[in-house]
Amino acid sequence: MSGSFKVLALGGDHIGPEVVAAGLQVLRQTADQFGVPVEVEEDLLGGASWDLHGTFCTDAVVAKARAADAILVGAVGGPEWDSIRIDGPITETDGLTRLRIELDVYNALRPARAWPALLHRTPYRWEVVEGVDLLVVRENSGGIYYGEPRGREMLSDGQVRAYEISEYRTSEVERIARCAFEAARGRRGHVTSLDKSNVMESGKLWRETVERIGRDEYPDVELHHLLMDYALFAVARAPRNFDVLLGDNLFGDLISDLIAVVSGSLGMLPSATLPSAARAGGPVKGGLYEPTHGSAPDISGQGIANPIGAILSVAMMFEYGFGCPAAARAIEGSVDSVLNAGLAPPDLGGTADTGTVTQAVLDSLGSRAS
Ligand code: NAD
Repeated sequence: MSGSFKVLALGGDHIGPEVVAAGLQVLRQTADQFGVPVEVEEDLLGGASWDLHGTFCTDAVVAKARAADAILVGAVGGPEWDSIRIDGPITETDGLTRLRIELDVYNALRPARAWPALLHRTPYRWEVVEGVDLLVVRENSGGIYYGEPRGREMLSDGQVRAYEISEYRTSEVERIARCAFEAARGRRGHVTSLDKSNVMESGKLWRETVERIGRDEYPDVELHHLLMDYALFAVARAPRNFDVLLGDNLFGDLISDLIAVVSGSLGMLPSATLPSAARAGGPVKGGLYEPTHGSAPDISGQGIANPIGAILSVAMMFEYGFGCPAAARAIEGSVDSVLNAGLAPPDLGGTADTGTVTQAVLDSLGSRAS
């Protein structure tokens, strides 16, 4: 490409800026090693933006994000901002949601794998969890989080009524289904689609649409449907039975945290949320890369946040955002080496702080030929 890849880094709140700082160190070193030119700009999102600008996401941040090749986000939110009530759509009350909608990123890819060095940190027997390699494909721009109308009202009997609606259009389900089938083709060729088609109209549309796309366009991919409640049990019990898990915005969110158990901690999970299907080898502009965990106010400011979810999100940025899978594999390999060497932050039962883990990943990366 001509010029540099532009990266916008938005730390967000609490541990968000701590893990994004770690991610940026890895980003810069990897870019140098692999000869990928990048320019990084930083700005505010979430509560940090509210405190300075009185809005959770400024128009300027939206404009910068639209111009960027990739956006690295930490996490937003915290008790300081929970009680702020703003009338209007969710884009006004949640900066990250505004960003996702403005960028029309809908294809959230959330991988989770069992790391050999961390098998003993999971609640599983090793024979249940060893070799687990899952990918959640979460629809991230529709469904119950964004459906209108939403709101709350005072009823004449003195109660408060709060409501939102779950809605999907055929085209929204078709495009995310294709993303899941495409992802499965590059993996073990199996999609499990999650819904509540027994009780939800949007779930019925979800199931029939995924079924049709699978049958007509991806006959080579094996497709199963599970009701979401049973899926939680089935995935928790035997995670090795699954490959790609396709869910709507809500169910994809729920199953993402569940599969973090196979990796040993919420702090381990990366994500890439793209405005299209991932393309093998070709960069996708405008993806949002973030660890799947929240802002963890309980450990904020102590320097002990696990940076690996953010670092692996940077690996996904190299793979999807810059079309450089070799760099992604190098980062993942470095994380693997660090864990195998026994280094672990407190959420994984170790004592290494954020800086120590990050430096160890950088050192391992530096020792690899690019
Ligand atoms: P959380 O993910 O922030 O924390 C859950 C638990 O996991 C906590 O005990 C926390 O210390 C631990 N944890 C999470 N990430 C960690 C890491 N990298 N290293 C070590 N430990 C880690 O979830 P929560 O407590 O339910 O939410 C806290 C805030 O985060 C809320 O305001 C919520 O709205 C927000 N949130 C934001 C996002 C996002 O920005 N994408 C996602 C989820 C939650």
